[in-house]
Amino acid sequence: MTKSSNRVPQLIAGEFTQSATSEWIDVTNPATQELIAQAPCATPAEVRQAIESAKQAFVEWRDTPVPTRARVMLKYQELLKQHHDELAEILAKETGKTFEDAKGDVWRGIEVVEHACNIPSLIMGETVENVANRIDTYSYTQPLGVCAGITPFNFPAMIPLWMFPLAIACGNSFILKPSEQDPLTPMRLAELLIEAGAPKNILQVIHGRKEAVDALLVDPVIKAISFVGSVPVGQYIYKTGTDNMKRVQAFAGAKNHMVVMPDANRQAVINNIVGASVGAAGQRCMAISVAVLVGESKEWIDDIKRTLEGVRPGAWDDPEAAFGPVISPQAKQRVLDIIKQGKEQGATCLLDGSDVVVEGYPKGNWIGPTLFSDVTVDMSIYTEEIFGPVLCVMTVDTLDDAIELINNHPCGNGTTIFTASGAAARRYQHEIEVGQVGINIPIPVPLPFFSFTGWKASFYGDQHAYGKQAVRFYTETKTITARWFDDDIPASHGPNMTINLK
Ligand code: NAD
Repeated sequence: MTKSSNRVPQLIAGEFTQSATSEWIDVTNPATQELIAQAPCATPAEVRQAIESAKQAFVEWRDTPVPTRARVMLKYQELLKQHHDELAEILAKETGKTFEDAKGDVWRGIEVVEHACNIPSLIMGETVENVANRIDTYSYTQPLGVCAGITPFNFPAMIPLWMFPLAIACGNSFILKPSEQDPLTPMRLAELLIEAGAPKNILQVIHGRKEAVDALLVDPVIKAISFVGSVPVGQYIYKTGTDNMKRVQAFAGAKNHMVVMPDANRQAVINNIVGASVGAAGQRCMAISVAVLVGESKEWIDDIKRTLEGVRPGAWDDPEAAFGPVISPQAKQRVLDIIKQGKEQGATCLLDGSDVVVEGYPKGNWIGPTLFSDVTVDMSIYTEEIFGPVLCVMTVDTLDDAIELINNHPCGNGTTIFTASGAAARRYQHEIEVGQVGINIPIPVPLPFFSFTGWKASFYGDQHAYGKQAVRFYTETKTITARWFDDDIPASHGPNMTINLK
């Protein structure tokens, strides 16, 4: 393709238009480096236009009956299901994910849209009759206005769909700034939302990097910001957004541990640990990147190594591939550097995927499964989120030691324990300082009728506004106390603070 033949449009004021910018970001196929598109860096005028259009869209949409908003979501989930394979193919080509993994990414987003179809029930307020004589108190849940979302590269369908469907179903308008590394999937999601009958300007999509995000963070029209991405950027977004008096939720990076007790089902552990650590090339915020082998389970390291040796990366349409390349040559170099540091700092590299070759794809961002043992807490392979197919193994004597180790890590996104002991599992779920806990399952990602609940440095904000609590994040509560009849009951009988007039 020529550079100008596949420039990604923005969705501003209801139109898919080309940016006037002179700054374009290459979007490449991570398996081949082939240029598949270019994303613009939105100009300040374009961001302003998106904000103004979103502000206007809100005026009518907030008064659109709730069942009408729910029906848009019903149609949207139907369209997403019809286009599931097509979306997965777009996604696989720009992220490098295997086709099955890409389908999973889309599906987890569809589940959020299904949840948004329940908006009439989700958005209900509360009522108490007769809080005093003939006085009733009731609350309504009202939308905020213009909300914005900033999303990472690693789930270009699921994470935008965590945000705009629920925000819009609540009656808000929304501005999405998707990752510049894979903007094609979010654009197709936007097209389908309009096809589902949403007002054309209820969702705006702008592209770019920090400058576009900064313009959203400081604009007083924007009431709430949802962010998903790395820890440093999450901290920046939270601080800047709240400094500008916005509601902010920032889901950030992770370092997830799997605790393996010696009474666990050995085969289940070996099978699960491989997918959880190197699946999606380790580019999941819920990937298991540390296995903590307790007591005699340390003898299972050889089994883990053998199973990891049996999986290999490959192109998105290779049915034999276990996972794809990492997103970019820069991301690959970063992972290779951390692997090198692990060796230099004294960890034992039992399996090194640094030089893996994938036949037919000499330019791909490949990294093979990599396994370290003898890892200590001061090594960068332990302190950093690697975001590659690298598993660190640590050994401890007791469950107490495992809990202490994990509670001392700054991140707290997800964790899992494999054990046959109910007592050990119950203790673990109670004492561990991590938001999402799995028991005998590899990756504990909750469905949208629960909340996605990272702790510590994995989340900044007051509400985990994915799924269940999203309606609270994207709305305000208005409480009304009313006397409906003009009668002679003294005002002082009410719950309000008054003086006695008699
Ligand atoms: P990233 O932080 O680099 O980028 C995320 C978004 O922020 C992108 O849209 C990007 O354009 C924007 N951005 C980047 N730098 C910025 C800056 N200085 N100022 C303002 N905006 C900026 O993250 P990524 O590499 O795209 O995604 C991977 C990260 O996301 C990992 O750390 C992963 O753990 C995390 N993640 C977390 C969750 C979760 O739920 N906790 C889910 C998925 C991914």
